[in-house]
Amino acid sequence: MKKLTLANLPTRIQRLSRWSDECGRNIYVKRDDQTGSEWSGNKIRKLEFAVQEALSKGCDLLITCGGIQSNHCRATVSVAARLGLKSAVLLRISEEPPVEGNYFLDRLMGADVRFCNRDEYREHRGEIMQEMADGYAARGFRPYIIPEGASFGVGTLGYYYAMKEIVAQEREMGIKFDTVVVATGSGGTLAGLQLSNIIWGYGKRVIGVCVCDDAAYFQDIAARISCDALPYLVEQGEISKEQAAQIAAALKPSDFELFEEYVGIGYALSRPEELEHIKRMARLEGVVFDPVYTGKATYGMVNELISGGRLSTSENILFIHTGGLFGLFPISRTFPL
Ligand SMILES: *Cc1c(COP(=O)(O)O)cnc(C)c1O
Repeated sequence: MKKLTLANLPTRIQRLSRWSDECGRNIYVKRDDQTGSEWSGNKIRKLEFAVQEALSKGCDLLITCGGIQSNHCRATVSVAARLGLKSAVLLRISEEPPVEGNYFLDRLMGADVRFCNRDEYREHRGEIMQEMADGYAARGFRPYIIPEGASFGVGTLGYYYAMKEIVAQEREMGIKFDTVVVATGSGGTLAGLQLSNIIWGYGKRVIGVCVCDDAAYFQDIAARISCDALPYLVEQGEISKEQAAQIAAALKPSDFELFEEYVGIGYALSRPEELEHIKRMARLEGVVFDPVYTGKATYGMVNELISGGRLSTSENILFIHTGGLFGLFPISRTFPL
């Protein structure tokens, strides 16, 4: 199996000089927010592999799910449109939402949309997507279901390779990042980065900052989907079958480091101090973080960089800007400028 070539790769790495000066460390940002425009953000790296699998199975319809402002759904819809496939998204919302941000783009690019409430989403999203798939299949489509965030075995390859990309860039730039930080919402990005780090012995500290749920929850998910990624890595010729078996036996939830203190008041809900932080960073560096993921993660970094925090031994820190800009617009009218 190969992959689709959709994202603009490699994404650039930039040093944020004023933030670095402020905290006395070298802070770099990897611009995965610039992987594309319609499919900007981190999900496209996972979709390059997942949608390749869909095509190789002869599928012509992508089904996925997420919150109403899901970046992942919007990226999936744009890939489908680009490749001439149909798309359908299951969105979590209790009432008919305003047509804005990512949801507007889903509609603009022609996705079929189905809504469900929070409880249905949490308990039954898999079954609902299967039911949707069955309905389309009865009409002659060949559906491919992508789980939330494309955080599953094959999708994990996107960030497995992103870590290799980072290491190649380190060599070019003559830098070594001791710490890599990323926002974590469904776990696949963290899983891929850390799996690569473990397999190739890069010796980096890879940290996921939870934007929902808690550390234990994501440690389990990351360990599980990393295991699920191994057969694909064998197929890609990255590792041998024997290595895969050894890695699978050794992988454990505690291999994945997460900070769980920055969820705040909940997924996609912002506290004033987080919005203040987004504004401050926008003005300090001209880099715009989003309220759901990267704003919370970098707010966490700022806190941890203050004396005695958990980043006290990190000198060269790489934050992966995973995108999310469209999610900022629905809150623009109430944003404290
Ligand atoms: C989905 C997403 C993340 C989190 O990535 P996961 O692999 O789901 O943990 C981070 N940032 C943005 C902007 C996202 O859309």
